[in-house]
Parts: sequence; structure tokens; C-alpha cells
Amino acid sequence: MNKKAVVVFSGGQDSTTCLFWALKEFDEVIAVTFNYNQRHSLEIECAKNIAKELGVEHHILDMALLNQLAPNALTRNDIEVKAGENGSLPSTFVEGRNMLFLTFAAVLAKVKGAKHIVTGVCETDFSGYPDCRDVFIKSLNVTLNLAMDYEFVVHTPLMWIDKAQTWEMADSFGKLDYVREKTLTCYNGIIGDGCGECPACKLRKHGLEKYLESKKEK
Ligand SMILES: [Zn+2]
Repeated sequence: MNKKAVVVFSGGQDSTTCLFWALKEFDEVIAVTFNYNQRHSLEIECAKNIAKELGVEHHILDMALLNQLAPNALTRNDIEVKAGENGSLPSTFVEGRNMLFLTFAAVLAKVKGAKHIVTGVCETDFSGYPDCRDVFIKSLNVTLNLAMDYEFVVHTPLMWIDKAQTWEMADSFGKLDYVREKTLTCYNGIIGDGCGECPACKLRKHGLEKYLESKKEK
């Protein structure tokens, strides 16, 4: 049985939790980070440091092309981060991002002889990103297998859980503090608990408070 996995890894809470999940689940884990001139190059640094600390083989792929195609609030300092209104997508949405990332992750996986691909996409805290939906991931999985004549299995350990449960998962690996202190989720580029004000920080903080509260009650 092939127990080698490639994890799509940004250095944020979700993908770091997925990395720990993969390290438990598979014999060999490779992390891949995409550099698309994110607003904060610190994100890349964060990912690098975590992979190094965990002794995980790490690849950083240049995806500057994505920024060239679709400038948005995550890649451009002059575009404000805001939530979507009236059913429109938030300004942080990068068109086609997950499809491109997973496709490149799959190419790397095949080159490395890995069958498993892990991504932290999640439908529960759904911000309206169409390429975070389970149906999209399943469809892409079939497409990748056909495109490369290979039996990839795309894993989405966070698909049906909320942020509180993501914290719970990290805690179950004994890694709650690690994820809390070392990861970067904040749109303002502040590591750990972040700025506390941006949508990503609010979501993360709310989830953490909810989880710690439920833990106290147990
Ligand atoms: Zn923030």
C-alpha cells in the first residue's frame, strides 16, 4: 500500500493541522507551498519554519502567474480585505486557486510517487469559495486521475468540521499550542493569535474560544 502523501501547506492553522493529520496517517509526508506573491511573504517563511521544525520535505512552487491573472486582496496591498456582500465573493477570493494548487500538487505527487494528496479546504465555514466545496474536490479527483492515469486520493480532513473542531483536532495530536503560536492566518500578517480584527482572525479566535469553552465543560 502506498502511504506517501503530499500536503498543500500554507503555514496557516488549517493546513498545519492537516500536516499533523498527515504525519499520523502516512509513512511519508511532503509539504508543498505555493508562492503567488502573497501580501505577506511571512506566510512563506512561516511554512518554511514549520516544515523544517517537523522535518518534513518541503517544496515551494512559484505561482506568481496567479497574481498576474487575478489580482485580489490577498496579493495586492491596495485592495481592501472585506467580506462578500449580497452573495458576492469576499475580496480575498483568488479565482481558480484550489484547482491550480491541487493540480500542481498532483503533478508533484506523481513525480514523487505519492498517491495521497491532502488539502485543508472546508465547506463548513463556507465563505462562498466554490473550489472549497466537497463536490468540486471529488470532481477534480476524478479529473486528475484521468489526466495523469494515476490513482490519486484527495483527502480533506477538515471538510465537514468547523473552526472549533479544527482546534480540537490539533489538540488531539497534542499540537494546540504549536498551531496557535506558530501558524499565520491573519490577513494583516501577524503570527499566532494575529491582529484579532480581520475576518480570518475573527473566525480563528471565535473557533478557539468555542473549543476552549467546550473543553472546560467536559
Ligand atoms: Zn488578523
